[in-house]
Amino acid sequence: MIIKGFQKLTLLDFPGRVAATVFTPGCDFRCPFCHNASLVLDRDEALDQDEILAFLKGRLGRLTGVAITGGEPLMQADITDFMRTLKDMGYAVKLDTNGSFPQKLQAILDEGLADYVAMDIKNCRERYAETCGLPGASSEGLLSNIDESIAILRGGKADYEFRTTVVKELHRREDIEAMGRWMAGDDKFFLQCFKDSGDILKPGLSAYSDDEMKALCDVFKAYVPKASLRGL
Ligand code: SF4
Repeated sequence: MIIKGFQKLTLLDFPGRVAATVFTPGCDFRCPFCHNASLVLDRDEALDQDEILAFLKGRLGRLTGVAITGGEPLMQADITDFMRTLKDMGYAVKLDTNGSFPQKLQAILDEGLADYVAMDIKNCRERYAETCGLPGASSEGLLSNIDESIAILRGGKADYEFRTTVVKELHRREDIEAMGRWMAGDDKFFLQCFKDSGDILKPGLSAYSDDEMKALCDVFKAYVPKASLRGL
């Protein structure tokens, strides 16, 4: 698998675990607020997968999980082999995905290769393609994959969360409300405030204040009661 970033220790990326994080390059989306532009545009040198696996082998016990993020990890041809190697080693595995590869997601869950999946829900259905940075894309094709991935996760084969990065220019109150109507249910759902990492795909976007985020979360919780804010 192509790996272009590796964080040896994280207490944040994998809920409840002391973990390492593996970053894969490339993505089929171009979300303007993406905070990993270098990865998405595949600018960096690849790291040695064997060295990373050797490191993880040596840290087993002190680390209990590996989070795989991107980019979009499911674009990697051998992602399932990599996840299987981690599981065989004894690690719990978390996968981040944008939900556009439901068949791969299903295969991974069927084989028990992911313990936790975090899937982005970019916006309400009406603004989905725009928020993914694919304004010309067929909303129908895009959303049918997203709908399928949501249904797969709700099937309960692994613990999961949905999450939305909220950006002032892309998420109006009525968009958050429409997204709430769409996602109504009892899922674990996090609204996280946009932050400029310095490696943004389309610089110049802005964040809501903490109070504005709390107000938006209240709007959303009318439909998704278990929703909460992350990172304020
Ligand atoms: S935010 Fe995620 S889905 Fe969007 S471009 Fe970046 S890596 Fe891809």
